[in-house]
Amino acid sequence: MAVIIDGKEISNKVLDELKVEVDKLKGKGITPCLAVVLVGSDTASCIYVKNKQKACEKIGIESKEYLLPEETTEQELLDLIDKLNNDENVDGILLQSPIPRHLDILKAFNKIIPEKDVDGFNPINAGLLSMGFPVFIPCTPQGIMRMFKEHNIEIEGKRCTVIGRSNIVGKPMAQLLINKGGTVTVCNSKTQNLKEILLASDIVISAVGKPKIITDDMIKQNSVVIDVGINRNEQGKICGDVDFENVKDIAGYITPVPGGVGPMTIAMLMNNIILACKNRRK
Ligand code: NAP
Repeated sequence: MAVIIDGKEISNKVLDELKVEVDKLKGKGITPCLAVVLVGSDTASCIYVKNKQKACEKIGIESKEYLLPEETTEQELLDLIDKLNNDENVDGILLQSPIPRHLDILKAFNKIIPEKDVDGFNPINAGLLSMGFPVFIPCTPQGIMRMFKEHNIEIEGKRCTVIGRSNIVGKPMAQLLINKGGTVTVCNSKTQNLKEILLASDIVISAVGKPKIITDDMIKQNSVVIDVGINRNEQGKICGDVDFENVKDIAGYITPVPGGVGPMTIAMLMNNIILACKNRRK
């Protein structure tokens, strides 16, 4: 049976460490501040935003919420980002995605100045990561790297497979593994022989968004299986991409959903806000 990588436990440890940092900053009269921008009222996004704000509150980071209606124009969104870019008291700006289809996500991420881009989605920060000089590392992949560190899981020389090629998870994840010396394969919906690729992998990271797409017959004995997916099963319960109950008997390490990658993502956002605050207010 695999070692269960407990994201809740590790994230609580990270948050405790970060609270010490926040207390030190407060001792100098500085309170780190996050501005969260949410356009529309997507249910999942509202829950994610609430959880992020709760974490801010827990460790003493100030969070300001900007709730914009679904029909917000591109110019209105860009103007708000501009205002937050110029607000001396705001250290980090988080634009919750997805945003309504009529808005250009690239334009919006591009508008957030790299110094306040705590999600690491601005093209400058994405470019720095791909060159191996990251400043703000996207929170989900960063959280997964911290999980590896906590369990002394080596990347160098390992065959790693990332399933999913999104800009927020798959690509930055692959980049971090490459930077650490992993031999990396990135799969997508058109990949042929996914099972064959996974059976040859030491580390599998699934970021697809489909329940039970990864089954026990696809996984090598004692490999590391990280489940990024957040889905609902037939009973309406939150589940990941991996058939956890069966894969846990094959893998060496596995993350559960919920309680795995999710809490780590939030902890790493807190990490990035404090980093932004320290960098800006030297
Ligand atoms: P996304 O943009 O929809 O990307 C999904 C990726 O999966 C795409 O690259 C897609 O390939 C690939 N894919 C779809 N079907 C596939 C198949 N049958 N075989 C192989 N690859 C397949 O999603 P995302 O934003 O990266 O998120 C992925 C999942 O992670 C979602 O469930 C999301 O809710 C979750 N998530 C969790 C956290 C967390 O903190 N735990 C954070 C972010 C996201 P194509 O490119 O060819 O379409």
